[in-house]
This record gives sequence, structure tokens and C-alpha cells, in this order.
Amino acid sequence: MNLDPIFKSAQEAFLHYKNVSGKEKATFLRKIAEGLEAEKHLLIPTASEESNLPEGRITGELGRTVGQIRLFADLVEEGSWVEAVIDHADPERVPAPKPDIRRFLTALGPVVVFGASNFPLAFSTAGGDTISALAAGCPVIYKAHPAHPETSRLVGQVIHKAAIDAALPISVFNHVEGGIEVGQALAKHPQAKAVAFTGSFVGGKALFDAANQRKEPIPVFAEMGSVNPIIALKERLGNNMESLAKQFVSSLTLGAGQFCTNPGLIMVPALHAEDFSDAVKKELEQIAAAPMLHEGIAEAYYNALAILQERKELDWVQVAAAKDLIKAYPALARIKAADWLEDEHFQQEVFGSFALMVVYEHFNELYAIAQRLHGQLTITLWGDEKELAKKVDLINQLEEKCGRLLFKGVPTGVEVGHAMQHGGPYPSTTDSRFTSVGAYAIKRFARPIAFQDMPHELLPDALREENPLGIWRMMDGELKR
Ligand code: NAP
Repeated sequence: MNLDPIFKSAQEAFLHYKNVSGKEKATFLRKIAEGLEAEKHLLIPTASEESNLPEGRITGELGRTVGQIRLFADLVEEGSWVEAVIDHADPERVPAPKPDIRRFLTALGPVVVFGASNFPLAFSTAGGDTISALAAGCPVIYKAHPAHPETSRLVGQVIHKAAIDAALPISVFNHVEGGIEVGQALAKHPQAKAVAFTGSFVGGKALFDAANQRKEPIPVFAEMGSVNPIIALKERLGNNMESLAKQFVSSLTLGAGQFCTNPGLIMVPALHAEDFSDAVKKELEQIAAAPMLHEGIAEAYYNALAILQERKELDWVQVAAAKDLIKAYPALARIKAADWLEDEHFQQEVFGSFALMVVYEHFNELYAIAQRLHGQLTITLWGDEKELAKKVDLINQLEEKCGRLLFKGVPTGVEVGHAMQHGGPYPSTTDSRFTSVGAYAIKRFARPIAFQDMPHELLPDALREENPLGIWRMMDGELKR
């Protein structure tokens, strides 16, 4: 496939679109949200059929998708996200006069976005990556996920219609279909300025490597999932055994376990291991097998379980009832902390409703686990106030291993807001400094530029003296509106 014409028109669109005002970008984004809502009678059944996800779940996902689009619309309309900083000149300064320097964030350029299989709407064509790139002022070249091609085309049409209605060049959004070679070519194209990806570790790492081997390396923001450990401390678990078992099982089996925040690892004190296993088993027995996204994912799930079933260190609390071509039967195995610490394989994500329960004897073992953990999107620490107060060292260690540390509830259900961090140390993502969910996701697609002694009439609105946008700015070291 010749990608040159696509990138050429995306680049032309960029030179116009990056300078479009926040208000106009907000209008465009809101038109996308309205378009998705107007097409829901088509989108919901199509996405449901292509993904095997129930219509109720897709309806909720559509709500989340339009909600996040409106969050970005509000963000760019308000405008302060550009982090404007102004240091005024001081011609009298000795020994040398001080120049006038003004800095803000400007759009990066055309961004390649890879859609995710497990969220046909919220992390796909008009999902968080596409919308945060458009909000930043970057055209998007979108690689459709082959698991939901028709949904992707429909959403692509909605975005194109919104661009036309907002009087923007249609090439602010480009829909591309194809396999791995096309994906590689997109990431390697000289006019691509960044890549956003949600999916497997293998896919994300391959794109990261390809982008770094380019003549001009570019950033790759790959969200590759993790096992999202839950750590249960003695008192809290002992006093809330049944409710915690319920919460854990509902998080583990939600959407057949096909979430990047699915809890695939749970640390339990030996004192309560038997009782908690029984409580969890009771809950698991009530969960029906649920269809996975496609046969390939179901096959990968059962293959991963088969490899684990060979391991003598594991004691199975619940074995997947049968190997199904498409449905996931939940499964849970137990392992001693000492054995878990011996082999990194036990940290690998099994995409689906499987978790490993690690039984620890004492705090030193738990601390050793915390030190050994790979980077995670989330870690959840269940402890009552008194026991948490004594675990400051553990908390300090866990902060080094995740992007979001929870003290209540379960990791699934990622709130889309201003403070959300969905991105943790490698290998959960390729760049832990950024989030792929929430308002700050926009920062991935912008870079700082400073103007020194620029004639005032040439300055962008965000940096003009009279602050025509009314945004928050750092003026000579003081935050002002
Ligand atoms: P995937 O295989 O990583 O694919 C995601 C996208 O990246 C697809 O468009 C795929 O293209 C493309 N791609 C994959 N490898 C590539 C490469 N080497 N070079 C260029 N492009 C590449 O993810 P998936 O299909 O969604 O699911 C497979 C596995 O990913 C699951 O079993 C699960 O383990 C994991 N997963 C993780 C998350 C998460 O939240 N982190 C979400 C979903 C899935 P083609 O499909 O066209 O080849």
C-alpha cells in the first residue's frame, strides 16, 4: 500500500489544523460526539456483533467514548492545557540584558494510532488516542483493528462528516486498513511524528523498536497491559472476606477478563489463604463462561492456561471447566510466594479471566514480591487504616512499580477525568511519563516551543501580552490568569 499520498495530505492538513483555535477544535470534537450518538442504532449492534461483547456493554462504552470526547472539547476550549509561560525582557539587567522568552505547547504533527480489539469504541477509531491527538492539533492516521472493521469504518465516516461540518480538511483523520506490514509501514513513515497503541506486549514492543530504528526516531506511546496485582493485608482481608472475594471475582471476570486493568495476580496472607480461596471459589462457581472477542484470543487464553497447568508449583482452586472455541471459563491457581519469586514466568499476563493467588507467610516475603514486580498499570493495596500506617515502606516500594495505586475497590473501571493516570513503568507501557486515559493524554502529542524576542503581533494568542484567551499562564514565575 502506498502511504505517501495519505501522509502528504495529513501533513498539509496539519499545517492548517495546528493553528485552528481551541474553540473550533472543540466544535469539531463535539460534532464527532453528536455524530456517534446519532449513529448509535447502527454502531451498537455492529460493534456488538463484531466483538462478541453484549449490547449493554457496548452501550456503556459508547457513553464513555462520547464523554471522553466532550472532556477533551472542554479542555481545548478552556485552553490552559498549553502551559503558556512568559518571562518578560529586562533590557537594564547587568551584565547582560534579559531577552523576552515565551513558551507553550504546540502540536507534534501527524500521529499514527492503532485501535484496540477489546474496546471497539472507547480505545479504537474515535477512542482516547485519536481524540487526544486531534485535541492537541495533530491529524490522525488510524490503523483499524481487524477484529471490528465495519464498526471502525462507520466511526471513520462520522469523524469525516464532523470535519466537513466544522469546515476542516478531511485529512485531519485518515482511516487505513491492513495487516502487520501496513502497521509497520505506518510507524516507519518519515512523516509520522508519533505512534499511539493499545494491545499486546509483542505488538507494542515491535512498534516501539521500529520507531526507534528510524532515521528520525519518534515517540511510541504503547499501552501493553499488565497483571494489576491486588495485595491483601491480614486485618482488612480477615474482616471483609466475603465482600472482598465478591469484588475480586467480579473484577476478574468482567468482560471475560479482557481488560488491561484485569487483576491477574492477588497476594494473600497464609493465615487467610484457605478461607479466601473457598470464598473466591464459591463466587467463581456462579460465573457463567462468557464469549471472548474472537477465537484467536480464546485460543491464546487456553494455551496460556495449558502451559501453567504443567507447572507443579501451582495448586488449582478452579480449573477452566472446558476448553471452548470462543468462551472463557474463569480459572484460579494458588502458588507459594517463595515459588513465585523463583520464576518471572508467573508474572506474565494471561489475557482473560485467570488469576494467580500468591500466598505469603510474612511481610518480608511480601516486600520481596513488591521489589520483584514488573511495571504495572495499577496496584491495589487492601489494608485497614492501622495496618496501612505501618506499611509506609511497602507503599513507597509499590509507588515505583505502577501508574495508579488503589486503596479501595478493584482496578477495573478506569475513570475518565483530569487526574487519571493510565500508564505505568515498563513493560505496562513504553513511556510511564504519560497517560493514555484522561485529560493529560493530550500531552503525548504536543511539544514545547519557545519564542525569543518575537514581534508581539506574530505571537500566538496563548502568548500575547493581553491574554486574549483568558488562560492560566506562568508570568515571570507566578501563575496568573
Ligand atoms: P495486538 O495483536 O497487539 O494488535 C493490536 C494492533 O497492532 C493490530 O492492529 C495489529 O495489527 C497491530 N500489530 C500487532 N503486532 C504488530 C507489529 N509487529 N507491527 C505492526 N503492527 C502490529 O493486540 P490484539 O489483537 O488486540 O490482541 C492480542 C493480544 O493483545 C491479546 O491476547 C492480549 O494479550 C493483548 N491485549 C492487550 C490489551 C491491553 O489493554 N493492553 C488490549 C487488547 C489485547 P493486525 O491485527 O492487523 O495484525
